[in-house]
Amino acid sequence: MRTPVIAANWKMNKTQAAARQFLADFLPRVAGLEGVELIICPPFTALAAVAEGLRGSRVGLGAQNMSEKDPGAYTGEVAGEMLVEAGCRYVILGHSERRHIYGETDQLVGAKVRTAVRHGLIPILCIGETLEEREAGKTDAVNRRQLLAGLEGLTAGEVAGAIIAYEPVWAIGTGKNCDPGEAQRTIAAVRAMVAEAFGADAAARVRIQYGGSVKPGNIGSYMAQPDIDGALVGGASLDPASFAEICAAA
Ligand code: PEP
Repeated sequence: MRTPVIAANWKMNKTQAAARQFLADFLPRVAGLEGVELIICPPFTALAAVAEGLRGSRVGLGAQNMSEKDPGAYTGEVAGEMLVEAGCRYVILGHSERRHIYGETDQLVGAKVRTAVRHGLIPILCIGETLEEREAGKTDAVNRRQLLAGLEGLTAGEVAGAIIAYEPVWAIGTGKNCDPGEAQRTIAAVRAMVAEAFGADAAARVRIQYGGSVKPGNIGSYMAQPDIDGALVGGASLDPASFAEICAAA
């Protein structure tokens, strides 16, 4: 039985003050929730403030990116051990905005995933096709390429402990969420790819989220699908009431 996992990706939003204000409203709303893992991924500059605010709660802390390198002369980068010290348990890697705006390759994302796992962080590996790739019938092929490169070098046990987020690029921040039945089909195919590469046990245990314009009004239809284990939420995670509603529906 896989525990559902709902993660907030705040992207480049919220100062420390805004993050504290969010938590003051959000945490009481989810205080009684059980049977679901909750994660907040603020920008680097708000990690410490959110770690402090989450102390004593059941909500986990994640970062939105990290370096594949160990500490050294890499201006502007943040190392895995720094995230661990800041209180992170999770890190989003390979988000489509990193891939498509900042040019992160499948191989770089794979290197980041390996470094994250080496530091004991749980990677949230994002994969997903663009609209052009979907229309060309390449959805499963793109997912396979990004998935296998992203998980390369991991053991079956490490894959079982990871989180995968299927996020069709055309659904992110557009309000055009993927049909839940189609998300189920695609995610079941991703799970079959994990089984093929890492074995049936890893495939049965790895959690696979859907992401892309998830809102309080549509989360239920995703959670009703057998292979969808939660959601990665961008825009709707910025508002405490909306995000709490999504968490409660899971
Ligand atoms: C995301 O950024 O991962 C995301 C899914 O964004 P949104 O929910 O706004 O589509």
